[in-house]
Amino acid sequence: IRKKLIAGNWKMNKTSGEAADLVKDIVAEVGRSNDVDVVVCPPFTSLESVGKALDGSSIKLGAQNMHPERSGAYTGEVSAEMLRSLFASYVILGHSERRTYFGDTDAFVNQKVTAALKAELKPILCVGETLAEREAGSTLKVVQTQLEAGLEGVTKEQATSVVIAYEPVWAIGTGKVATTEQAQEVHAFIRDLLGKLFTPAVAGKMRILYGGSMKPSNAPELLAQTDIDGGLIGGAALEARSFVDLINAAA
Ligand code: 13P
Repeated sequence: IRKKLIAGNWKMNKTSGEAADLVKDIVAEVGRSNDVDVVVCPPFTSLESVGKALDGSSIKLGAQNMHPERSGAYTGEVSAEMLRSLFASYVILGHSERRTYFGDTDAFVNQKVTAALKAELKPILCVGETLAEREAGSTLKVVQTQLEAGLEGVTKEQATSVVIAYEPVWAIGTGKVATTEQAQEVHAFIRDLLGKLFTPAVAGKMRILYGGSMKPSNAPELLAQTDIDGGLIGGAALEARSFVDLINAAA
């Protein structure tokens, strides 16, 4: 019922020209794939060149962050409307790197989520525990707090446009992927919680991605889990071969 979604988070990588070159290679192989939804999220500076390279393909464009206000004196920031004007349709919000290095709080992430939805951008809301939190046995509590706060004020009509990404912080860029059991446990918990926040029917339509050292070799097992609806890919999205292989693994 839920179409799988593979999203590439390029983080702070690639110049505008390099980004266009990478996406051209991806489009050449899977630009017409309809079995899987595919999103690429380059840095702001490459949205335009990547958007042009994606033109006519089924691959969608996403950004990695945004500011909740429409415009104003917010030096260095970018609004939802600006992203829409470059044909972005998704935006990653609350990534752990933003929470850790740039002070994004649950409340600020929530403002961004509601502003994105108002502007008809689909948020990819990231949640996940640190290693210390997992070892303390508080994984589910941490994820619950992040979700309840991040989704405050989101209506059940809007909720089906929201994508959740479960990214255990200890698995990001470390090569340490969560086991399928660890991931499925949290994904099932998230779906159950979404059912309570919205309705079980709405929760059944929402996509929950796994993120953290996902690559072609471990993707099939993760993607076979009942509640894992795709992946948010960092390192393996920076190279056409591995990203295309991940998309094919989800098909
Ligand atoms: P890696 O795939 O490099 O571990 O990064 C995951 C991630 O943070 C995606 O948002």
